[in-house]
Parts: sequence; C-alpha cells; structure tokens
Amino acid sequence: MTSTNPILPREGPRDECGVFGVYAPESDVARLTYFALYALQHRGQESAGIATVDGGEIVATRELGLVAQVFDEPKLRALPGTMAIGHVRYSTTGSSAWENAQPIHRSDRHNVALAHNGNLINAVELHAELRERGVGFRSTSDSEIIAALISTHEADRVEDAIEDVIPRLEGAFSTVVMSPEGLFGFRDGAGLRPLALGRLGDRYCIASESCAFDIIGAELMREVQPGELVGLGERGIRTSQVVESERQAFCVFEHIYFARPDSQLEGRLTQLSRRKMGEILWREAPVEADLIIAVPDSGNPAANGYAQASGIAKDDGLIKNRYVARTFIQPGQELRRHGLRMKFNPLPEIVGGKRIVVVDDSIVRGNTTRQIIGMLRDAGANEVHLRISAPPIRHPCHYGIDMSTRQEMIAHDRSVEEVARELGADSLAYLSLRGLYEAIGADRSTHCDACFTGDYPLERTDGARGKFALEELAVVQS
Ligand code: SF4
Repeated sequence: MTSTNPILPREGPRDECGVFGVYAPESDVARLTYFALYALQHRGQESAGIATVDGGEIVATRELGLVAQVFDEPKLRALPGTMAIGHVRYSTTGSSAWENAQPIHRSDRHNVALAHNGNLINAVELHAELRERGVGFRSTSDSEIIAALISTHEADRVEDAIEDVIPRLEGAFSTVVMSPEGLFGFRDGAGLRPLALGRLGDRYCIASESCAFDIIGAELMREVQPGELVGLGERGIRTSQVVESERQAFCVFEHIYFARPDSQLEGRLTQLSRRKMGEILWREAPVEADLIIAVPDSGNPAANGYAQASGIAKDDGLIKNRYVARTFIQPGQELRRHGLRMKFNPLPEIVGGKRIVVVDDSIVRGNTTRQIIGMLRDAGANEVHLRISAPPIRHPCHYGIDMSTRQEMIAHDRSVEEVARELGADSLAYLSLRGLYEAIGADRSTHCDACFTGDYPLERTDGARGKFALEELAVVQS
C-alpha cells in the first residue's frame, strides 16, 4: 500500500553523516561500533544505528537520538555477530525521521544493511526507475536507493551487485554495506566525502574519520581511494578500482570545520591544518589588538595559529557549555537563537576594556556570530574584530551538506564590509582561497570549494533538488 507522506519545510543545515564498519569475528563488533560512532557523534546527532551479521542474518537497531541515548548494554548485547556497520545521521525532524535513520536494512533478493554519507545527484531518476520495477521504499532518503539497487540486483554475489551499482550513482557517497557474504566500503569517484581504512589487530575496519579508529585501538592504514571498492572478510582486504573520475573533489570544508581536529585528512592532522589557517589569516589580515579569543571549540586551532603568528595574547573570553550540541547543525533559526544563550558565556573580567580579535572557522547565517559580538560588547570589549579561517560561504552544497539556502547566507550578495556591518564587528576578514589551500598543502584541482566559489566540480549541480525532491515526491511504502 502506498501513502502520502506529509512534506515538511526544509530548513537548516543537515546531513553530515558518519559511517563505520568492522569485520572482526572474535570481537564484540557491536561494542566496537558503538564506540566508533561515539567518536563520530559530531557528524550527526539526530539518529544512530548499528547492524550486525549473526549466523547469516542481519540484526539492526536504529533510533532517533545520540549514540549514548540510543544504545545501552541490553541493546548492544542483542547485537551479536562477526561484523557490524554503524551510522550517525543529521537530518530534519518530522514524521519520516525515524524511517530515514540508518543503517538501512533491505532483503529483496540480497540481504543487505547499508550506511551512507553523502547525497545522490541522480536520486530522482533512480528512484523512478526502481518504482517502475515495483520496488517499494520505506524512507525518503537517497541512501535507501543505493540499498535497493544492491538488494534487488540480479547478480549472484553482493560484491558483483555493488560493482555494477557504483557506476550508476552520481554525487557524493562514502558508503558501507554489509551482507552475510562480507563487509564492503566504497567512495564516489570524486571522493567528495571522507572514508578511511583501519587495522584492528589482524582485522580491518572502515570509518568516515580516523578518530573512530583511535577510540577502539585501531590504526589508520590509508584513505579509501575515490572510486575504490574495498571488501573486508576472512581473507583480509580485497580492493578494486570501480570508477575512475576525471575530477577528484574532496570537500575542503572537512578540513575547515566538519572533521574532528584529531582526525587525519589527506595525510594531515586536522588540528594542525586549522592552526596553519590561523597563521595565514594573521599574515593576510593583521589587526592591532590586545587579546585574541576563539569561538570555542571550532575556532580554537585557528585562534592558536593567529595568536602564535601575531604574538598577541590569547585567552578564553567565551566559555562554552559543552553539553549543548553545536549550533551549526541544529535546525531552525529560532532554535538557534534560543540555543545560543545556553551555549556561550562571555567573561567581562577577561574581555572588558580590551580590543578583541574573535577567531572562528566559518560563518553561514551569522546569527551566532552577531550574538557573540553583542555579548562581548555587553561584557565591556572596546573593539571586536572578527577573523574567519575560511572564505565567505556564498553558495549551497549539493554534496551531502545542507548549509541553508543562498538567501539565508549572510555573505550572499554582500561585500565583506557589509557583512561586518550586519554583524556589528569593527572589522572583518576572511581567509583567502589561496591561503586555505596553502594551509592544507593541497591543490584546488583535487578539491571541492563550491560553497565558497560556486565552482561545482561535478557536471550536474542540481543535487539539492534531487535529494529534496524525494521528499517532495512524498510517496513512501507503508
Ligand atoms: S560545496 Fe562546500 S561543503 Fe559541499 S562538498 Fe563542496 S566544499 Fe564541501
């Protein structure tokens, strides 16, 4: 039976997910996955899930909430198995939110569980094709399309099905798939979202970020290559290059903000890249000031770099309540405004009577920044100069990060001076694109920076429509 799903307005940034997979028959794979997801919690805070393969069957638990809220001892103990995959998700609220939680489990022809980080550009076409073939859907996520393509595939082996499906997918997809036949990880040809391979004793695991390996005592081996399919099983690792893309396009924003500072990206510790961004920001945009403060925690590494390069003292002028989820990924402007007062508290004893430089990693809408500047002035700061360790965000992301619409972005259609005025800052400077690439020691030609430049690396750029159009189609199997 089909039913109409209510369409909720989309608002707020979303869909920065984290994935994990481990093959380790002699270990408690659900517990390993739990802790790996715990380390990846920053990538998605709306739902969490774990699936295991036990004796040829897939067992899965997924619910709305943080990893520590979703799982307890009895739930973990109910997930025995030889291998596991897990997922943390950020998405909108609404009636279909639970249905969109992952891992997705389908058993059409093949019994598979799947966890995905990214956004398919050709979701609408693939969805229509599958519907025409009589394939039903329980969710409105594009991730279920990948699961359905694999699960309904006529190939005898899941691995062959995956190899055949990968070239049909367009967009960003760092994905882990598990079936009783084995565990697989693959990444889109452009390598938009991160995915890394780790070693756990003589077994292997896959994660969005290497911080997930650290927490379980695994070591980072290497990144899964763009277009590569990796299989983990009894005989170790198998790998094949399924697609070759003309253009690699790793998300440069992962270096700036998304990834945890203790994760390695492209061979660099993110904390050090961000510190370097701060150093270069000082070189590009120095200012006479008495004190540097970071917007905690995301601005900390760049503020350290800015302070080190400038010789100006740095102190904690804003105290953050660590038990409030970061505002960037909370939906809705009103919530964000209310949430902020719970989140930051300025210290008049530190900032009072001083010329302050506030360093942060990025500005999307500017509501948070505007309020921070207001709070610092109320706390007695004489001047507030804003330094941002990324270029202005002016364009939407079509590759798995929903950063609001262009119109909501404060830098859209505004000069830097106009943005400074909007925010109430005495001065504002952003890191240049050139400075950003210098900081990460990489080249534009292998990265995506479309939200800063509007220069989309994939031919098709209507991905946002594709993803949301699935909800607009509003046809789900009930
Ligand atoms: S548009 Fe921005 S956030 Fe999206 S993939 Fe490109 S660099 Fe990353």
